[in-house]
Amino acid sequence: MGLLNNKKVIITGGASGIGEQAVRLFIEQGARVVIADMNVERGQALADELGQNAGFCQVDLSQPQQIEAMVQQAVEFLGGLDVLINNAGYGIYGRTHLIDPADWYKIIEVNLNALFQTCRHALPHLMKQGGSIINTASVSGTRADYGFNAYAAAKGGVLNYTRNLALDYATDGIRVNAISPGLIETPLTTPLRGHPGALAEYLHNIPMARAGQPDEIAKVMLFLASDLASYVTGQEIAVDGGVTAWNGQPRFPHHFGDTIIR
Ligand code: NAD
Repeated sequence: MGLLNNKKVIITGGASGIGEQAVRLFIEQGARVVIADMNVERGQALADELGQNAGFCQVDLSQPQQIEAMVQQAVEFLGGLDVLINNAGYGIYGRTHLIDPADWYKIIEVNLNALFQTCRHALPHLMKQGGSIINTASVSGTRADYGFNAYAAAKGGVLNYTRNLALDYATDGIRVNAISPGLIETPLTTPLRGHPGALAEYLHNIPMARAGQPDEIAKVMLFLASDLASYVTGQEIAVDGGVTAWNGQPRFPHHFGDTIIR
């Protein structure tokens, strides 16, 4: 018996990285899952590999009318809806005076506005029997990064929208939570991880001194989707190796060693 037996789940961005690991884990745990993604090749191949409990639905989340169609198709395939995971997202690097407004608006569209659209269409289905919404935010929404302006703004919005949804639907039996990943090894972070200087500095700033793996996020999604989290709503859970626990002050043990200083 799995933790998600017969649960009906939509995972956006399910064709790659964190979303893909969530799809795999949720199916292992007994769920029926729709992978909602714009990457047809990877999304369809994953659904084919995982068998009859997985379906693929092509959607470009920057296009609101496609989102409505995706939710309707997904609910038909699944026979209802218990869990919505808003996971697709991306950002670009560049200081504000260099950013093309079209990039800014698209990042806000995919990372933030798409959540409003998926929730708007999914909530009437979730309200029938209760359920769980999980939004993939980012440590870039908790505190800002250098350079990732639109992404930081959108993910910050995701975090507070998560709290708003949690309040508005608490008595409908719908729990809404956000996960804020730190540095996770997925195709999204290949450019950063391919830059030795940037990677070394990032790893230096992670208390656990390593990047995370996508299944380490998927496991927290599983917790939030399941009854194990039955009294958890409106929360941000950082899964970041300790990055957001640190205030940036010197690493005193490196300087003072294992000693007492008065
Ligand atoms: P990824 O690039 O491996 O996967 C993202 C998926 O989203 C892809 O399959 C892509 O096709 C899909 N997608 C992107 N834009 C889309 C659109 N307009 N319409 C439909 N599908 C779209 O990335 P990932 O690292 O797995 O990221 C998943 C989530 O985690 C994102 O929201 C990302 O911002 C967040 N996140 C990732 C990290 C990290 O270090 N990897 C850190 C913090 C937050």
